[in-house]
Amino acid sequence: MRRKLAAGNWKMNGTGDNLAQIAALTAAHPAPGVDILICPPATLLSRVSDAAGNAIATGGQDCHAAGSGAHTGDISAAMLKDAGATHVILGHSERREDHGENDQDVRDKANAAIDAGLTAVICVGESLAEREAANTLAIIGGQLAGSIPDGVTAQNMVIAYEPIWAIGTGKIPTLDQIGEVHDFIRTALEKRFGPGVGRSTRILYGGSVKPSNAEGIFAVSNVDGALVGGASLKAEDFGPIITALENA
Ligand code: PEP
Repeated sequence: MRRKLAAGNWKMNGTGDNLAQIAALTAAHPAPGVDILICPPATLLSRVSDAAGNAIATGGQDCHAAGSGAHTGDISAAMLKDAGATHVILGHSERREDHGENDQDVRDKANAAIDAGLTAVICVGESLAEREAANTLAIIGGQLAGSIPDGVTAQNMVIAYEPIWAIGTGKIPTLDQIGEVHDFIRTALEKRFGPGVGRSTRILYGGSVKPSNAEGIFAVSNVDGALVGGASLKAEDFGPIITALENA
């Protein structure tokens, strides 16, 4: 049995003013059937953790592969944990594009996160050119093989399928396309890690999830929740997505 997960990625958005959204979310959408995770900018992590209490988990958006050292501007997994995080997003396509992160980098970071006691939310996804060339499954398969460390469990890893061309664009794949990729990921996890881990690991869909399309997406097989960017910034948008997930 996989618990559903609604995860919000605030990206480089938010100051102390946004803390009111956490209170609004907690008050308006108590969702006992759904795990809720907010990944704010690192500057807000401890304040969001304090505001969220037990109702909402918090996570980082990246971590360094090393535990400490001369890495100006970077943050270690242990530091995220110290600030209240239980999760960290790794390998988001914006990190892969803006910072040249490759699968090995993501794997190293995932190892560091897991060693520090965090759950790694590992992102995979194809570009539009890769989808149009009918390479989606090959790309996803390669990213899964390269980015996920050996020895993971269903507790310390979540997979997020995020087609790059769907992020922040308002476009989403067809529900059949989402189902095809999620089924493929499930099978790949079962083959590599065995049926226990494979069947228990949560697989999120991410890319332009909104209140208006959430119900359809959550009805797709092997979609265990969502990683939500823009629509996670406001409780009035994220709340209905959480409700749709709870009702799925
Ligand atoms: C994301 O950045 O992980 C994301 C899914 O963004 P959006 O929901 O805004 O497309």
